[in-house]
Amino acid sequence: MKHFICTLFFLQAFLFAQSSSDYNQYFRDQTMRIDYFHIGSFTEELISMDRIYVYGTWAGSLNNLIDNLNNGKYYHKIYDAATNKSIYSRGFDTFFGEYVSSRNGRDGVRRSFHESAIIPYPKNKIIFVIEKREESNEMTEIFRTEIDPASIYIIKDKITDVSVEIFKPIYNGNPHNKVDIAILAEGYTLNEKEKFAADLNRFVEYFFEDEPYKSHKSDFNIYGVFKPSEESGTDLPGADIFVNTVLNTSFWTLGSERYLMTEDNKSMRDLASHVPYDAIYIQVNHPRYGGGGIYNQYCTYTTDNQFAKYLFVHEFGHSFTGLADEYYTSDVSYTDFYKPTVEPIEPNITALLDPENIKWKDMLSKGVEVPTPWNKKEFDEMSFIWLTERNRLNTYISELKRNRTPESEIAASEEEYAMKDKKQSNKVDEYLHNNKYWNKVGAFEGAGYQSTGLYRPMLDCIMFSKGDKPFCKVCEAAIKKVINTYTE
Ligand SMILES: [Zn+2]
Repeated sequence: MKHFICTLFFLQAFLFAQSSSDYNQYFRDQTMRIDYFHIGSFTEELISMDRIYVYGTWAGSLNNLIDNLNNGKYYHKIYDAATNKSIYSRGFDTFFGEYVSSRNGRDGVRRSFHESAIIPYPKNKIIFVIEKREESNEMTEIFRTEIDPASIYIIKDKITDVSVEIFKPIYNGNPHNKVDIAILAEGYTLNEKEKFAADLNRFVEYFFEDEPYKSHKSDFNIYGVFKPSEESGTDLPGADIFVNTVLNTSFWTLGSERYLMTEDNKSMRDLASHVPYDAIYIQVNHPRYGGGGIYNQYCTYTTDNQFAKYLFVHEFGHSFTGLADEYYTSDVSYTDFYKPTVEPIEPNITALLDPENIKWKDMLSKGVEVPTPWNKKEFDEMSFIWLTERNRLNTYISELKRNRTPESEIAASEEEYAMKDKKQSNKVDEYLHNNKYWNKVGAFEGAGYQSTGLYRPMLDCIMFSKGDKPFCKVCEAAIKKVINTYTE
């Protein structure tokens, strides 16, 4: 047995050595950023190249060059041009993908979004391919072009922005086998630099409070990247408030008042390039509840509201691991985000098309029924009452802001909202805790914005409801898997 383990160990070491030598054969220790535009609507889709950059060291693993996680609606794929060998790939989601699911996108209003592929710098000519997942989950190619790394047009500008300052709240060494996170400052003026540093430290502490990050602390490097904004905060179009900030984030993204994103990919990538990074967080200096996250792109969170820790951990669940939202009672910008007849690719929700072989089969609690019964009707009624009240209050507060009502009156309404929001969150916690199947892994109906036909692994999870709570067991396992792809 011991002999067998030794053989295995050597075999594994050999395999790793092989892929590392793959790295040295095809790439050098720098990053290539390929910028392009993603254009179209629900019925058409076009990619148009922008510029290509070289910079910094490569932040990712030297061993895991091919992404086998099979997550994300799109894939960047790199082939060696001479041999056609697949040498690098990465799954991801796009803002474009969310746009086409929104009302305008579905109505055929064409728009352009800037995107980047971040890859290790190739030594020889490559073929750059973008693949898209069809409704059947099959991948089809939508774009292909040859890139010559020796081209004189690849931009070699030095990253020297004198207004940028780098913080290193967590540093554990070599970026090749760490998860490198860049936390970018958004909506902090020069006078608020100390607030940025204090917020950064607070959130880094939140990050390692729960599993699986807690026991993987030494696997992370976290950088804070500060660039002062002209003005403090972020845009609130619904309240007619616009401020000049470095990353141009905005609430009311795609018509959803809590959805806080940026369409300014170029500014975001330029700022992030000051450090080696595998993942991007945008820390938005604002008290209002909101955020968002797109798989292998970035996520946002606001710093000064009672659910700030929840936002920070939840949104990174989307952008780092590609977890689905497990909630379904909230109103979101998308229509028909998932097809009930196709198994979603995200690891934490299922259409339960084959109940005998549910994707988290290995983690099911003993003796639990699939699907797992729970008092969903009562929960839905309770959620609906709050949703109606929440929408009423939000509309009212935005109206006060648009009419430039005195601050004290706005603050009183915001306080009322925060109090009711917290009360509802406590009520939900209590309700779920009292359920027979609390803390069990099963298949609970209601997930992925759909009340029926989609199932989540546990009654509660930080991807399901707001509050200071852990990930469910299935999400936790999925995150660990992703951490390993960066650290091996
Ligand atoms: Zn979960």
